[in-house]
Amino acid sequence: MIIKPLWVRLTVAVLLPVALVTLTLTPIFTSHLKDRADGTRRSAEALLASEYDLLLRSMNESFNQVLATAEYPQLKRFLSRQDAAPTPTWGLASQNDWEQLEALFDTLLTHFGRYTRLAVVDTEGREWVATSTVPQLSRPPVADHGATTAFRKAMSLQARDLYVSSLRLSASGGEQAPATTVIDIATPIVGDTGERLGVLLFTLDWSRLTTTLPHALGEAPGEALLVDAQGKWLLSGTEGQVERFGQPLEERWDDAWSALSARNQGTVILEDHLLAFRSHDIRTQHYRSQAGMILSEAETQPWRLGILMPRPSLWGLLKENPVQLLAIALVYLLSGAFGVFWVLSNYRLRGLRQRALAFSREARQYAGEVQDLYEHAPCGYHSLDSNGRVIKINRTELDWLGYRADEVIDRCHYRNFVTPETRAAFDAAFQKVLGEGQEGSAECELLCRDGTRLPVAIQGKAHVTEEGFQYSRAMVFDLSERKALEEKLKMQALTDPLTGLGNRRYLEDQAVMEIARAERSGASLSLIAIDLDHFKRVNDTYGHDVGDLVLQAFAKLARQVLRDGDVLCRMGGEEFAVLLPDTNREQALQVAERLREAVATTPAKVDQDVTEDGALAYTTSLGVTLVSAREGSLKPAIKRADQGLYAAKEAGRNRAHWQPVSP
Ligand code: GH3
Ligand code: MG
Ligand code: MG
Repeated sequence: MIIKPLWVRLTVAVLLPVALVTLTLTPIFTSHLKDRADGTRRSAEALLASEYDLLLRSMNESFNQVLATAEYPQLKRFLSRQDAAPTPTWGLASQNDWEQLEALFDTLLTHFGRYTRLAVVDTEGREWVATSTVPQLSRPPVADHGATTAFRKAMSLQARDLYVSSLRLSASGGEQAPATTVIDIATPIVGDTGERLGVLLFTLDWSRLTTTLPHALGEAPGEALLVDAQGKWLLSGTEGQVERFGQPLEERWDDAWSALSARNQGTVILEDHLLAFRSHDIRTQHYRSQAGMILSEAETQPWRLGILMPRPSLWGLLKENPVQLLAIALVYLLSGAFGVFWVLSNYRLRGLRQRALAFSREARQYAGEVQDLYEHAPCGYHSLDSNGRVIKINRTELDWLGYRADEVIDRCHYRNFVTPETRAAFDAAFQKVLGEGQEGSAECELLCRDGTRLPVAIQGKAHVTEEGFQYSRAMVFDLSERKALEEKLKMQALTDPLTGLGNRRYLEDQAVMEIARAERSGASLSLIAIDLDHFKRVNDTYGHDVGDLVLQAFAKLARQVLRDGDVLCRMGGEEFAVLLPDTNREQALQVAERLREAVATTPAKVDQDVTEDGALAYTTSLGVTLVSAREGSLKPAIKRADQGLYAAKEAGRNRAHWQPVSP
């Protein structure tokens, strides 16, 4: 996984649970919201049905009242009488009818409370009986309806037909009174023989009628709207609607108007409202209506009644139940907190894991280095079990031995690699390792695969736990260099550097062996002491370097003359000695003579500038004697040989002199 910055992961960790919670809650709330919307729709439709019914019932009631009043016998009689007397002079009968009509009108006005004015108009348009909520100031006929639309339309109608005007504002309460909306209902008054007697004109207080609707009474939520075919507000019953009366609906709710004008009835969802509506043409017959034909202004029909309900919203739902709101907020908070916690703990864990990985990488590297050191250390390492079997061995030691690991590990006992001569030392050391001391060391020789022997020093140590001895660990040091050095030092200690011959100590060492051998074998052992004659002169005449050359020339020559088994050494200065094994007196004298003669006849080679011919002749004097096995050491023989030598010098040099063993 690509490691993103912490802030990105935190954001995802908060957004993801929030999205999950939202995904879980959304269907629940959507269904809840849908139920609520369905409920709202149902109540809007129910309210609409009830308002529609009430409105129509009230209208029909008014229509029926107008029609019934037009059939009133006193009314017909009153108007017939007036017709009979074009110049009205009221008789008692007319007065009586008039008063009864007024009483009826008063009853209608006060009992139903929905009319603002009731008037009886004769065929001339003269108003004869009128009752109004406005106090009547003059006696009839008080008004001329000849030119009014309602009168003219009603005059053209048949009996039981109705004219219903469009709604209009009327200051029926006078200048001080608030404006009110009214609607005129007119019907012709027709005599029993079919003659036209006049017109009955009722002015219906529309605002009174609409204030009895359930929404206006505050019995139901929502708002009612009633518009005509052109979308003009017709409701003025409730507060604020008077001002709105006659205003186009689309000014306030253009989407509501487009929905209303598109269909006759239905339910539409507006931005934040739900609108249930239906249309009604006042001119259509209604089963409760007793009217024949209803005439009205065509451009105002049909009316459209609608109920606007606030559309349920999610926030509205949540606000209704604060506990639920709190619970949801808590769920979001917890899910976000969980995400943050998860990311942070994961982040920390990742850090720890990375550190652990780094540690383990380091540890592996370190282990590799240690293993490398172990395998290729300048010394050998091995581990043995309690039986001395190899359980681990490093590459260095395997290389020394010339074996592969699989040939050795768990297969070989280490002591088998040790030469028989040094095996006892190894065994003793291993027993010490197994013992209480837990440590042991030995110098041994290892027998390599190719047959060579490797001198080594082994230092072993036991690895012991509570359960006792587990295995031994040993370091093996290659001693071959040390041994060679020792040998070299030893050789140097016994060698004369100028001539390369053994020195006096070398002679004495060899003599110990030769005397012992002579003693064992009974063979004779002779010794010759040699001294270069007048050597001081050589040095003095030709220089020390030439003297050295002569000494080297003598050593070379003597080696050629002598046998391999003869031990020639330089005793010091220009004095030499030869130990001759298996050599008796005669033989020794012969060798001495041969040597003397060889020297005398073989001058040393020197540079041309030293002597003319590049050769420097010299001679030697020799003292010869036998080494007696009984004497135990060489010293007496050396002394005798020196005496012989002295005698040879005395006798004139360049000769050998026998010096017998004194009895
Ligand atoms: P003679 O033995 O015949 O009696 O006489 P000589 O001259 O040899 O006697 P001496 O023993 O007195 O002298 C030995 C000389 O050998 C003295 C010394 O200078 C010389 N000599 C000793 N060791 C060395 C050496 O290593 N190199 C050289 N060039 N000379 C040496
Ligand atoms: Mg000498
Ligand atoms: Mg000498």
